[in-house]
Amino acid sequence: MSEIVIKDVDTLVTEVGEDLQKDVNIRIIDNRIEEIARELGEDWEPDQIINGSNHIFMPGLVNTHHHFYQTLNRNIPAVQDAKLFDWLTYLYEIWKYLTPEMARVSAQVAAAELIMSGCTTAVDHFYVFPEAHPEGVFEAEVEAVQDIGLRFHPTRGSMSLSKEDGGLPPDSVVQDEDTILKHTEDVIHEYHEPEKYGMTRIIVAPCSPFSVTDSIMKKSKELGEQFEKVYFHTHLAETIDEEEFCIEETGMRPFDYLESLGWMDEKTIHVHSIHLNEDEVRRMGKAGASMSHCPSSNMRLGSGMAPVVDMLKAGVKVSLGVDGSASNDSSHMFAEARQALLLQRINYDEESITAKDVLRAATVGGAKAIGRDDIAKLEPGMAADIIGIRKDSIDYAGGQHDPLAALVFCHPPKVNHSIINGEIIVKNGEFLPLDLTRLAARQNELAEEQISNLK
Ligand SMILES: [Zn+2]
Repeated sequence: MSEIVIKDVDTLVTEVGEDLQKDVNIRIIDNRIEEIARELGEDWEPDQIINGSNHIFMPGLVNTHHHFYQTLNRNIPAVQDAKLFDWLTYLYEIWKYLTPEMARVSAQVAAAELIMSGCTTAVDHFYVFPEAHPEGVFEAEVEAVQDIGLRFHPTRGSMSLSKEDGGLPPDSVVQDEDTILKHTEDVIHEYHEPEKYGMTRIIVAPCSPFSVTDSIMKKSKELGEQFEKVYFHTHLAETIDEEEFCIEETGMRPFDYLESLGWMDEKTIHVHSIHLNEDEVRRMGKAGASMSHCPSSNMRLGSGMAPVVDMLKAGVKVSLGVDGSASNDSSHMFAEARQALLLQRINYDEESITAKDVLRAATVGGAKAIGRDDIAKLEPGMAADIIGIRKDSIDYAGGQHDPLAALVFCHPPKVNHSIINGEIIVKNGEFLPLDLTRLAARQNELAEEQISNLK
């Protein structure tokens, strides 16, 4: 048994939206919260004590969309100024050289970056299984993240519709249906932990309407439905190009197309969901479906603005995602919450969305989207996924009238402490699992090696 006490917490957020608490202690036993109280009982015997004074502690953030392998492809000059289809067409030619070693190191980078900026649970949409190295890339990613200790919902993504068959991706990154389904089932058996506090849960995730067949959408759904707490994930209505593609190929708008395939339900996360009309937003809410809002990527690629305020009113489960690093190009969840707030206020009035709304999407919203009731709240019995941020830095000086909203309105913070599943991952600003300077150097070598294949 291990015990950690966070002592003298200056400000505590038990759940975004609840009143803040002052001057409390948090007792953690093994992987869960045991007690939150002004005075702890007599019997506490911590192995470690964290000083909570001058800090705000809160539930860790939940990132519901990423492509970890893209941390190798940030800021590539040739696609700094490209729209989605041109951007993808260029990047597929780099991604086909992804190796298990690249998948491993890029996942370490993404996980470290996410954790340092407040995330404690992440979904990753992994869908590139290159013809040259189809085996081991997914496993390398999952095991790298497990070693670090981030709570992880990796998706077994897929692309099955190549250019020859009318899709966008080249043959070199597309797989046949049997291979996709067999591997998806294998990784569910290997890694999926449906039980309470499970650290790894597999999600099934055909990539997008222009890169998969309708048949793999249906078969993937049927396969995932056989397992407890296996959820679903796909890109939906990201661009007008996608909408035109769908209407031409299927005679349906992207939303109708996914709905017709059985992909509009409470276990499915629809990423982006920008180009939806009023009726589609209403139907999405009625279905209890969720969406992952990725405002930085949407602005970076000029894709458009999701109708988030309308979605919240319609009952859509709205969560936040940083998206892959080739289109963001940073994995910072607080920065994403800030972007979400500011972007919506361009289209809606200033009272229609608040700092609390975007932080709820980044915590409780994310937990609901992936079907978890054991994270995103700090109370006895919940998983010990807790972050601590210094309140006394220059970044927030003069902004303590509302210490939680300061994290959105002022600078996007880095955490000073992060505990995930009862393990201390960041302590006093130091990332404990890995040497980040060495990791960055290795990542730079691999990024250069991958792109040099183009020359
Ligand atoms: Zn994406």
